[in-house]
Amino acid sequence: MTHQSTPIAAIATAPGRGGIGVVRVSGGKGGALLAPLMQPLLGKTLAPRHASYGAFLDAAGAPIDQGIALWFPAPHSYTGEDVLELQGHGGPVVMQLLLARVLEAGSSIGLRVAQPGEFTRRAFENGKLDLAQAESVADLIEASTEAAARGAAASLSGAFSREVHGLMDRITHLRMLVEATLDFPEEEIDFLEKANARGQLAEIRAQLEATLNSARQGALLREGLKVVLVGEPNVGKSSLLNALAGAEVAIVTPIAGTTRDRVSETIQIDGVPLVVIDTAGLRDATDEVERIGIERTWEAVRSADVILHLVDAQHADAPMAREIEARLPAGVAQRTVVNKIDLAPAAQAHAEGERLYLSAKTGAGIDALRRELLAVAGWQGGAGEGRFIARERHLQALRLAREHLNVAAQHAAQSDRVLDLFAEELRLAQEALSEITGEFTADDLLGVIFSRFCIGK
Ligand code: GDP
Ligand code: ZN
Repeated sequence: MTHQSTPIAAIATAPGRGGIGVVRVSGGKGGALLAPLMQPLLGKTLAPRHASYGAFLDAAGAPIDQGIALWFPAPHSYTGEDVLELQGHGGPVVMQLLLARVLEAGSSIGLRVAQPGEFTRRAFENGKLDLAQAESVADLIEASTEAAARGAAASLSGAFSREVHGLMDRITHLRMLVEATLDFPEEEIDFLEKANARGQLAEIRAQLEATLNSARQGALLREGLKVVLVGEPNVGKSSLLNALAGAEVAIVTPIAGTTRDRVSETIQIDGVPLVVIDTAGLRDATDEVERIGIERTWEAVRSADVILHLVDAQHADAPMAREIEARLPAGVAQRTVVNKIDLAPAAQAHAEGERLYLSAKTGAGIDALRRELLAVAGWQGGAGEGRFIARERHLQALRLAREHLNVAAQHAAQSDRVLDLFAEELRLAQEALSEITGEFTADDLLGVIFSRFCIGK
């Protein structure tokens, strides 16, 4: 791919102030960056993979900053190309000056600013990382919980890719067997019987199921769960958000209708990130601002993974509560939370089917609610061992592969089986799996994946 050789540069560290800021340059092979950048910018030529301290010079030879320069000749670099890293002081202005100077010095070799994710895309295209690993780089940066970060690190080190490759290898083996048999039609049945083709297929399907299950957990770590709190004003939505978050994040007041806008908080339960959204209380509002808040509440409700409908234990069957209940979308998981049990005589924290009794104020029943949320999400918990992060895209590919293996199994079960149809389904299953690691991935999909990265990564 020709565009790879164009050198690119970007500030690799987060915008804002920090102890250190890094400008990264990648491009070319065989020292393409050496002549235009090193001598004029650093006043010297660097030894490969050695930290070298000195000044970063402007065109007139005056220092812009001083710091560490690192030189990674291809292919032993992040991108697989020649890479130069300049570590200076992490101020936004000094970093901009340094980047501008690098671009100026590199203009003779066509150096330009990198697009989001372009460094990692080059790493992928040069075979440094497969696609699932490249995605996990972004997921590691974006991780909002420790479990998500560890899952991303596991995927980055290849835990997920290895499982996918394991599946693909077994399918390859079976395909070779079947395709060899295709050439000798009269021996078909016998040959497959001896090689236990059906047994092999059953094992592959079981293994795929296990991988899909792990990937579902991994996707939950990445995407988290959107929990929306709804209910009449004053039932304790903001208090419940605070109780779940363990901090004062929403304004709690005894005046009905205080939460006019959504307040959301990302919390974690057992490492699973949950975005909990507090909403404006639902009632027949008269004033315009409140009506807008209520409209937005219904918007939030429609995009929820789980809806928690709060009611006050003192009047749990208020007509408004029933009206809200009736308006909640049918396809979304929902639980009724009966709050303020501390005020209701003889009420205790417990669950009754899809009703949970608790007190946001005393905390009674909050742990049970946390466990319930994880159960709704399908989280299986347990040790973090072998856990990797995954994306919806990966789940889709695994499900597609599963479908093809199912069809293959149907073909195999028929007495007058058509062997080449069986073989074709195996091939399609393998192709679906290969989309995960990126062996055969359309260019526009790559564009979508990498454009979501931050600049400099
Ligand atoms: P929201 O309008 O639904 O967000 O309700 P708030 O969270 O603002 O709570 C309204 C009032 O009910 C506040 O005075 C809270 O302190 C009180 N409250 C909330 N939950 C409980 C609870 O479990 N027990 C008691 N006794 N009071 C609560
Ligand atoms: Zn509120």
